[in-house]
Amino acid sequence: AHLDRMAEVEPKVKAFLHVDREVTLAQARAVDARLAAGEKLGPLAGVPIAHKDIFSTHDMPTTAASKILEGWRPPYDATVTARLRAAGLVILGKTNLDEFAMGSSTENSAYGDSHNPWDLTRTPGGSSGGSSAAVAAYEAPLSTGTDTGGSIRQPASVTGIVGMKPTYGGSSRYGVIAFASSLDTPGPFARNVLDTALLHEVFSGHDPMDSTSIDAPVPAVVEAARHGDVQGMRIGVVKEFGGEGYQQGVLNRFHDAVELLESLGAKVVEVSCPTFTTALPAYYLIAPSECSSNLARFDAMRYGLRVGDDGTRSAEEVMALTRAAGFGPEVKRRIMLGTYALSSGYYDAYYGQAQKVRTLISRDFEAAYQQVDVLISPTTPTTAFKLGERTGDPMAMYLADLCTIPSNLTGNAAISVPCGLADEDDLPVGLQIMAPVLGDDRCYRVAAAVEK
Ligand code: GLN
Repeated sequence: AHLDRMAEVEPKVKAFLHVDREVTLAQARAVDARLAAGEKLGPLAGVPIAHKDIFSTHDMPTTAASKILEGWRPPYDATVTARLRAAGLVILGKTNLDEFAMGSSTENSAYGDSHNPWDLTRTPGGSSGGSSAAVAAYEAPLSTGTDTGGSIRQPASVTGIVGMKPTYGGSSRYGVIAFASSLDTPGPFARNVLDTALLHEVFSGHDPMDSTSIDAPVPAVVEAARHGDVQGMRIGVVKEFGGEGYQQGVLNRFHDAVELLESLGAKVVEVSCPTFTTALPAYYLIAPSECSSNLARFDAMRYGLRVGDDGTRSAEEVMALTRAAGFGPEVKRRIMLGTYALSSGYYDAYYGQAQKVRTLISRDFEAAYQQVDVLISPTTPTTAFKLGERTGDPMAMYLADLCTIPSNLTGNAAISVPCGLADEDDLPVGLQIMAPVLGDDRCYRVAAAVEK
């Protein structure tokens, strides 16, 4: 049924980079056979899923939406994809993203934009915009994404679905093509809070293949999603997120959500986190720095594309020609920014300073969580913007992640849950709920209450 739905809407939505009906149906038959043989599979056995094309899959290409990896087939699965296969989920295909997950709209994909099913002239968000569009368009019931600065929560928000960034280290990065290793966090998308939690639970937990994986029990996210009880919970509204630059309709729905939570017995207070306003500039030094180092591996020797290797050129020349042809403009911009920020003489002034800011943001979070159980804000300052509207202005694009980035810099858990439509444009608005490290269950508890 999902493959048929895809055939119908995919020409307009363009959520997928790769679909192979035969591979998908073969996987589904294999799950049937396992069940028939009496194998006990989890609650999601047989449920189809779409994977962001940054998760390695041994039976489908994995490109990170870059020309440099065109046609590349990984020899192994990411831990997330492997665990979901083991649990009997069937892969529908690989979804579009901004190249190497750098962007907020899918417009940085080397293979064209995805479209928001609510209004096809608008972005489904990014970087995991193919995954959000696929679920919002009913092409897939579940999908995966990665969130480095907001790339799960922002697309979920602008397509009216649920998206969760687990605690950093709660989900494995093994086999996920790296953008900024200290921030990258795989997570789930679904159309409701309980489905999101079920998916979260299946792929989470300690992975010895990822050195930053947390060796602790997975928070009880499914139970929290079933309860949705906020009676007596202390909820903090981040004072710094809600002033200028926010669309009025977004603020209106946010205030409705606050009133709803109060009516359900939560105690809502205003909390000040003054350093949160410095998170965006700190992120745009740290993420490009890590990206410049991670993307050095695309050297024309090990993976994918190789340009100009005709026997007359040196390895360095082939490398330079390949990287010039294989990377898009945003990826090049980030590699240059990052290389500059890490270069000797500038390291302390830029990268070192940004890391200090990161510590101050952690302290603000810690102080806030002494007073409240969770923090809330709009997920993103505006509803889905028009495709093309911000492509000429990287700074405007970067602002889409104003509210989501602090939780990435500190590794905290955070979710986006739909909280109504904006008055101006009837487009979905998301509520962000942030919780301490390993407090993922709190995000689900509050999200479930808002969803009811
Ligand atoms: N939009 C942000 C960026 O461009 C976040 C991306 C992400 O979370 N992968 O870096």
